[in-house]
Amino acid sequence: MRSPETIRLSGVHVSEESERLVLAVLRSGHIAQGPMVERLEGGFAALCGTRHAVAVTNGTIALVAALQALGVGPGDEVVTSPFTFVATLNAILECGATARFADIDPATFVVDPAAVADAITPRTRVVMPVHLYGQAPDMRGIAALASEHGVAIVEDAAQAHGAFAAGEPVGSFGVGCFSLYATKNVTSGEGGMLTTNDDVVADTLRVLRNEGMRDRYQYERAGHNYRLTDVQAAIAIPQLATLATCNELRRSNAARLDAGLSDVPGLRTPAVVPGNTHVFHQYTVRVTDDAHLDRDTLARRLAQRGIETGVYYPRVVHDYDCYRTHPQVVVTSTRGAEAAAREVLSLPVHPGLSADDVDRVIEAVRSELAV
Ligand SMILES: *Cc1c(COP(=O)(O)O)cnc(C)c1O
Repeated sequence: MRSPETIRLSGVHVSEESERLVLAVLRSGHIAQGPMVERLEGGFAALCGTRHAVAVTNGTIALVAALQALGVGPGDEVVTSPFTFVATLNAILECGATARFADIDPATFVVDPAAVADAITPRTRVVMPVHLYGQAPDMRGIAALASEHGVAIVEDAAQAHGAFAAGEPVGSFGVGCFSLYATKNVTSGEGGMLTTNDDVVADTLRVLRNEGMRDRYQYERAGHNYRLTDVQAAIAIPQLATLATCNELRRSNAARLDAGLSDVPGLRTPAVVPGNTHVFHQYTVRVTDDAHLDRDTLARRLAQRGIETGVYYPRVVHDYDCYRTHPQVVVTSTRGAEAAAREVLSLPVHPGLSADDVDRVIEAVRSELAV
């Protein structure tokens, strides 16, 4: 018997429409930032319902540029999640600001507004929630805190293209930062996007992105080259038209996984924040102490059965030597995030999976955890 094909954790599919657009760019003689980037920006502004969208080189740069445009620098504090990809923390440090952490709710993996409130100090300039795995935290709660304390919101929406919080699109609560990296829900290989309703912030971002120039050789401020290319934009543009369908497929795969796995002892399926729409960039379960296998053993056994899984993330972001003693990192105890880091396992949920694939994942997990 032929062993079944490996079920991958992510599936990158580039459509014929993307191929056609990329070829058009290559043949146009205009391959740097130009009309395709502008089209992609228009698409993101429509997706997020914002007045502006500004494309940049990658998602990390989007976070850096957002903080720079808000004037964040040395002495300022940014409150964020300890349970995130390192780019979130690196962006804060790059700006010279200090990072302070608010614990997550271990059922939803996103920051708890009460913990954010506790982490706010007189130096706080920005609250930076991370929409981990495809869902935002309680953004009404975060927005209320931000306005109470007079701080800005920068959303790390790198994993949440097309998600909603309390009926509003993510990326519309402050400055939205998206990644277009290869495995993200919208991709251009590498790329980033900012969204905002603030005319001044948008204008500053455009000047910053272009070496601080408004017009050629009219330098207004110290800037950088944060530009995206038309070649990359052309890859991503057609994906905006299919994003809602792809996210719906992710949600229905997640619902099938929920139904198949919710009664397994030692396993906790992911919770959705009330009122939010989760886009399941990842479908992440927790393997608890009640399971007779630990998380890493389960991952190995699933790999032997041809099922790829991922651990996002094995440690809280500041739990590394290079950050523990970093002068711009305030290390606090965040028990929810620490517990999650020990227990999380992401299972395949991407839109390229068939119902049979999802059932194979369910069967494999069930039989490995059966008592
Ligand atoms: C991917 C990612 C980023 C960084 O995006 P890049 O495009 O890879 O620079 C930032 N934050 C989170 C949560 C991410 O998943």
